[in-house]
Amino acid sequence: MPEGDTIHKIANFLAPCLDQQPVVDLRLADVSAARKCIGRRVSDVVARGKHLFIEFDNGLALRSHLGMHGSWHRYPGGAEWQRPRAQLSVALVTAGWEYVCFNAKEVEIVRIPSVRERIVHGRLGPDLIADRIDPGIIARRAREFVEADELLADALLDQRVASGIGNVYKSDILFIERFAPDTRMAEVDDDDLGRCFATAAELLRRNLGGGRRVTRFEGDGAGSLWVYGRGDLPCLRCDTPIASRRLGRHHRGTYWCPSCQASTDASPDVDPKEGRPA
Ligand SMILES: [Zn+2]
Repeated sequence: MPEGDTIHKIANFLAPCLDQQPVVDLRLADVSAARKCIGRRVSDVVARGKHLFIEFDNGLALRSHLGMHGSWHRYPGGAEWQRPRAQLSVALVTAGWEYVCFNAKEVEIVRIPSVRERIVHGRLGPDLIADRIDPGIIARRAREFVEADELLADALLDQRVASGIGNVYKSDILFIERFAPDTRMAEVDDDDLGRCFATAAELLRRNLGGGRRVTRFEGDGAGSLWVYGRGDLPCLRCDTPIASRRLGRHHRGTYWCPSCQASTDASPDVDPKEGRPA
């Protein structure tokens, strides 16, 4: 699943390939917008959070968001694609190469100033990989965009707070920082928020090198992720079986260790004397 580090890796790969290349052909659903970019040169390739911007020398940019299932492929001109044409979102053709994006969630041609504008106007929070992280600013944005009775997990995923964290990192950050998956914003202070996002930034940066995603760096072969995708398997810290459930704003799959991340609050649906399983 593409996360902020994935998009930076794609941008790092594409930037030198596409730099100053003339666009021989550009195919996407909005044909008239695409036509404006054919014959132009690529001036830059930039990742912002989970968005990839391929900028052209006419002040326009191709913005893509891969969502859950999108991917970029590069093929030598005329080579057979690994996915059916029906899944095509964008094909950008240069002399000799085809850069093909399949199953993107969003693709559009935007004006480059409006890209900057969106960032300035807060549609995207600071990029956890590219920007210097100010914990105070991130905490303030978290309070602004996520209500007190909403989940900390939702703040981690909200790209307006800070951009880059996807669903895999969400579960693993909560594990590393030992927050129960149902922890609400009202239960965390600004230091907690700053710590979670600092951990996220560190994990995203450590994963820029390529290869599989790693949140657990023990190197003992037991697992490269702490909890994500490990439903019913033993916790790598305490052997308790990992639990999983869909939760939060978007009902995203969430994994946690019921022992390492025991709830401390007495939420209304739990008898405070009983608490949560420890
Ligand atoms: Zn555990």
